[in-house]
This record gives sequence, C-alpha cells and structure tokens, in this order.
Amino acid sequence: VMKLSDSVKTLPGVGDVLSNKLAQANISTVADCIHTLPRVYDDYSQVTPISQLRPGPVSIEATIQSISGRYVRRGMHITEAIAQDDSGSVRIVWFNQSYRSRQFKAGDKYFLSGEYKLSRQRFTLMNPAAEASSNFPINTARIVPKYREVHGITSRELRKIIKATLPLIDSLEETLPNWLIKQQSLMSRSAALKQLHFPDSVDKLSEAKQRYGFEEVFELTLAALLNKEAFRRDESSKIPFKPELAKSFVDKLPFNLTDSQRRAVWQIYQDMQRNEPMNRLLEGDVGSGKTVVACMAALMAISSGYQVAFMAPTELLAQQHFATINTLLKPLGYRNEVALLTGSLSASKKTEVQKHIAAGKKQFIVGTHALITENVSMQHLGLVIVDEQHRFGVDQRKKLQQKAGHMPHVLHMTATPIPRSLALTVYGELDISLLIDKPAERSTVSTQLISAKGKEQMYRDVLKQLAAGRQAFVVCPLVEPSESLPVPSATTMYEALKQGVFSKYTVGLLHGKQKPADKEATMQAYLRKEIDVLVATTVVEVGVDVPNATVMIIEGAERFGLAQLHQLRGRVGRSEHQAYCYLVMSQNVSPSRRLRALESSNDGFRLAELDLELRGPGSLYSTLQHGALDLRVASLTDTELIAAARNAAREFIDKQEDLLQYPELRGRVERLRTITNLH
Ligand code: ADP
Ligand code: MG
Repeated sequence: VMKLSDSVKTLPGVGDVLSNKLAQANISTVADCIHTLPRVYDDYSQVTPISQLRPGPVSIEATIQSISGRYVRRGMHITEAIAQDDSGSVRIVWFNQSYRSRQFKAGDKYFLSGEYKLSRQRFTLMNPAAEASSNFPINTARIVPKYREVHGITSRELRKIIKATLPLIDSLEETLPNWLIKQQSLMSRSAALKQLHFPDSVDKLSEAKQRYGFEEVFELTLAALLNKEAFRRDESSKIPFKPELAKSFVDKLPFNLTDSQRRAVWQIYQDMQRNEPMNRLLEGDVGSGKTVVACMAALMAISSGYQVAFMAPTELLAQQHFATINTLLKPLGYRNEVALLTGSLSASKKTEVQKHIAAGKKQFIVGTHALITENVSMQHLGLVIVDEQHRFGVDQRKKLQQKAGHMPHVLHMTATPIPRSLALTVYGELDISLLIDKPAERSTVSTQLISAKGKEQMYRDVLKQLAAGRQAFVVCPLVEPSESLPVPSATTMYEALKQGVFSKYTVGLLHGKQKPADKEATMQAYLRKEIDVLVATTVVEVGVDVPNATVMIIEGAERFGLAQLHQLRGRVGRSEHQAYCYLVMSQNVSPSRRLRALESSNDGFRLAELDLELRGPGSLYSTLQHGALDLRVASLTDTELIAAARNAAREFIDKQEDLLQYPELRGRVERLRTITNLH
C-alpha cells in the first residue's frame, strides 16, 4: 500500500532521470507530488463529433486511418494523419513529433485534443495531445491540468505520476473539524485534492479551490489569533500616560501632527498603559512620519524610567534614526540618554556603551536587529520599536522576554502598503495603526517614464537641479555588469556619469558589496552635501532621509516591483523643493500599465492594490513571504472568503477546540505561528 512518505521512486515510470529532476524541484516523496498543484487548466472536456467541429480548442474520439511522417527541410519534421469517427474525418498535423507515426494502433480509439484551425486552406487539428480512449483520460478530453514546468519536468510526466497516487488521495483523511466542513459546506479534503489535479467539471474545480482557499486563510488566521491570545497572557509593565509631557513634545515640533499621527499616538498610549504587552503595527507610506510617532511612544517610556530599544534594518538607518531622535528629544532636555549601538563601533567604545546601558544610564538604545541577540543587558526594557523587515514571532518574543525578564511592549513599523484584507490575514496577531494622510506642505514627486531617446533631455533637467544646489540619486538594478542581464550596473554607471554628463560635479558610489564603514562614509558625505550625485543600488531603498535630494533616477525601472519603485521614489520629495523621479526603461522596453501607474499615482496603498489586480496575489505573496508562507490557491482579494475564514478561526478558538485532535492542521498552524517576516 502506498504511503505519503514513500519516495517518488516507488511510483510507476519514475526512473533515475525523472527522480533527479523531481528532486531538483523539491519533490521527493509521494506527498510532495500530491501537493504540487496545477498552475492553470485547459478545458478540453467537450468531446465533439468530427462533423460538428468549430475552430478553437477541441477534443475528438477517433481512430487513425492513415499516418505518415517526413522531413520537409532540415530540422522540420511533419507528421500527417487522418482521424475518423462515425460522423466524419479530419486532417491532423504534428510538427517535430516524429514518434507520432509509431504511437497509434490501427482500429483502436484515441482521444485527441488540440487547436482546430485553417492551415493551408484546410481545417486541421494542429499538434493535438493524444492518448488511448478510456474512462479516465489525463492528457486529453477533460479539463487538463498544467503544472509549472521546472527543471525539465513536463506536465505530462506529472499527470502520469499524480494519477498513480489517486488511490492514496482518495483515502486521505479530513484535516478540518467536521462541524466546520458542514457549516461552510466545504468539499472534503480528499475530493478537493482530486478535483484540483483532475477536475470533473468547472464547477467542481471552483468548489475545490474554494475549499483550499478557505483552509489556507483559516489556518493563517487561526495561527495569528492563537499567537495573539498567547501574547496577551504575557505580563508587561504599565507605562503611564502623561498628557503634559506629550503636549510639550508636540509644542516643540516644527510642524503639526497629522490626524493619523495623532490617532496612532493615542492608540499606542492606550496600549502601553495596560499590563498586557502592546503588539502593534504602525503602517504608513514612505514619508508619512512614522519616526515622530515612534519617538512619542519612546518618550513616555523613558520618562517613567524604562529603557527603549529601537531596531533598524541597516546601520545606516540606525545612524539616521539616532540623529533624528536626538534632535527630537533635545528640546525636552534629553541629551545623554540616547545611545547608538552598532557593529561598527570600536570594541572599547562598544563595551563602554554596553556598560552604560546595563547601568541604566542610557535609556534609549538605537541599533540594528542584532540588538536583541547581542550581549546587552537591558534590565528596564519597557518598549521595543522595530523598523521594517521583521515581525517578532513566538521565538523572538521568548528571547526578548528572557533578556528583559518580562515582556516589553512592541511597536512594529512598516512602509509596505498592504491592502486591508491582506493585512488582517497575514498580520492577524497585530493591532494596526494606519498613517493615511501625508504630512502637509509636501509636494508630490513629479514622475516620468524615460525611454532611451528621452535621456538627453532628462540629464539637462537634472543638471538644472544640480546647478540650483540640489542633489540626485541614480539607482541601478545591479552592482556590477552582468553578461546575462543587459541591465545598467552601479559601477559602470558611476564611471560613465563621473567622466560624462556630471563631470563638473562630485559623484559617489554606494552598494551592498562595500564595507559598512565605506558605505557609512559615503552616506555621511552625501548628507553633508560633499557628494552631489549618488549612484547606488537599492541599499538606499528604506528610510534614508536626505531632504536636499530632489532627483531620483531609476535605471532599468521595469525590473523593479511597483512597491519598490514607490519606496525608492519616497527617498526624494522630503523638503519644500519640488522633486523629480525618472523611471528609465531599458532599451526595447515599452511602458507598461504598471509603470504608467506610477506616473499618475503617489498613493502607496493604491499602487499595492493595483499590483494585486495586475499581477495577482502571487506578486504580493512574493514580497510578503520570502517563501516562508506558501499560499497557493487562496484568493486574498476574495473578501467574503477571508471574512468567513476569519470568523471560523474565531469560532474554533471560542469553542475551545483542542488542536491536538487535528494533528495535520496543528502541524501547519504551528509552523505558521513561527513565521516572522513582515514582508
Ligand atoms: P517615514 O514614515 O517614511 O519613516 P519619517 O518619519 O522619516 O517618515 O518622516 C519623513 C519626514 O517628514 C521627516 O523629515 C519628518 O520630520 C517629517 N514629518 C513627520 N511628520 C510631519 C508632519 N506632521 N508635518 C510635517 N512634516 C512631518
Ligand atoms: Mg522611516
């Protein structure tokens, strides 16, 4: 009897060659096969009498009357055949499939599925798939599954081996509670898997997708809600809200808070006054002013004697945050309480800072994500602020708790705009504050698509900006030139611009392969305006703040996602000066609707929704998960399904159902609970 854990080699027709290819695609067991789902389907389910064929994709059931193959010229082989059924006969042509003339037995019936169309004045069935007539065809005369063909594995091969697993699929056990199956009228798991691979009809297929989509969102939300409950049971310190302090901070700001900043601050203060730990996501587009909000949260904590850890994704950003925070807190009399702790500090300096932190003299510690793993003792840690990239899952929270002796409040910040339906599902364990309105007096960045022809004019415009004392970014997709990708690289662009169009100005180079200290020095020089044009890779993507920079040139723009382009554009337009973003397309690339959207919209949320619409959930999954989550069927744009799955997850918890009863569900949910990437 076949088992899920059996090797693929036990399946009929899987020899060394195929099993090696499968291994490359991470398919090594029968279970892996079963869970390799089709990407799309071709509907060849209507078997039509030959006399009634209409142009388009068709299936027939027929005998082969005559068949012969020949080379028409070198490298071009043609097989011609006549197929016949009770109603008539039809000409068939295959190109470069010389084995076809040996495939058919005279008198036997076959299913043939392909495109029926005019070829040299005659209606012909072109390149049809063929297989012996049966009551369970897999390549023809049905809704035919098409798999992602990676590592040279064809759909035909996959269909054959998955067909061999059907008896096992039929006996698979249910993973969801029975009451839920009934309540939601879901197809059973084994029926759904069978329908996904070999659908009986369009309706059955959509029912199967519905079941799988529901299950995915249910598991994801259940994991999130279980985390949320567990996190709530931790004890945290109450951080009292002092209205006068908040007021004096706000009074000393050179601007007024936006309404959403005010609301977010208020929500955070509410959270921190409780002794269950805050676990909040502050989501706001680039330039929406998250740092001030974070700083106000921190202010309340340090004024009550707690320590705050602020973690940035890179050293560069930690530096900038350190500077910003100092500026913001100075008017309130905080000078020596803020510390920067990063890897590039000298050993002695580091020891000194760590000593001050341990003694509680340094209260506000800014660093990279290494802060929680590094050997720093923070006895009074009351609040952790995480800027971008990581969400603290179960394990990270344990680490924090051990470090601090109790669970601090946690504020996550992200500039990745995620449509609400998705945020609720993927970040279900977090409370969410949105910064929707942009700080006032921010002009929108004027954005323009540039083709090869338009570059000269673009450089003339940029030179005007430089002459007026402004600075420019030039972002390239690669560090060094690559033979396989015809895309501009930062190093070549740097040389070309330095010798060429910007020779009168100082040009700098910044990329991820440089030493941290060098990157640091370059960035500092750019900030001090000792560099006019900074050629870089996407290291400048997140958070870097250079208000005097008004030009962002993005080379090979078609290679970036909408969200990333929008992030890059957000590096400019941070002052009262009008800013410009030039999306330079590689040669022979024409402007897509996707790129055009950036010209007309400055709204990150809208762009994210558009990406979802144009590229499908897959585009978002890839930015969301780094492969950690593996949602395949769920349509996260399907708000009804999401609502139903969320309610069901809530009900599961309210019923105090024990996951131990559902081992497979439990395994998956436990894995989801540990996923910690924010995007
Ligand atoms: P982000 O959300 O991208 O991290 P920042 O916190 O870096 O944004 O803020 C971007 C810039 O906007 C900073 O220079 C900050 O001082 C400024 N800023 C923040 N809030 C406001 C506001 N309400 N009005 C005007 N400027 C603001
Ligand atoms: Mg920021």
